[in-house]
Amino acid sequence: MSSIFDQIIEGKLPCDKVYEDEAIIAFHDIAPQAPVHILIVPKKRVQKLQDLDSKDMHILEDVVKVAQTLAKKFNILEGYRLLTNNGALAGQTVFHLHFHLIGGKQLGHQFG
Ligand code: AMP
Repeated sequence: MSSIFDQIIEGKLPCDKVYEDEAIIAFHDIAPQAPVHILIVPKKRVQKLQDLDSKDMHILEDVVKVAQTLAKKFNILEGYRLLTNNGALAGQTVFHLHFHLIGGKQLGHQFG
């Protein structure tokens, strides 16, 4: 099923893009929870982390590399979070695998 992020990847919906290569696109979250809140989205259509095939694990390496690059670019090396919500109970609302890169302020300890 096509999600809103597929439409962004296909260029059918605009986004505030900060990075793109053949495998990944990254853009500012439309409802930021911190001064820096970027979504790092693998282009491959995978609904959530749990569905990631072992042959596609290299995607995680790509995501981490992009997160490191963007953390430097957006000056949040002092502290940032990289997270994914897996499934509705975890708060996932867009069912296309993506990672939140969050920083730019003192983040709380709350996870639930
Ligand atoms: P999640 O709840 O983990 O599935 O995260 C989905 C995120 O996508 C939320 O933080 C939304 O604010 C964000 N979002 C939804 N639509 C858009 C959009 N068109 N452009 C940028 N971010 C979006």
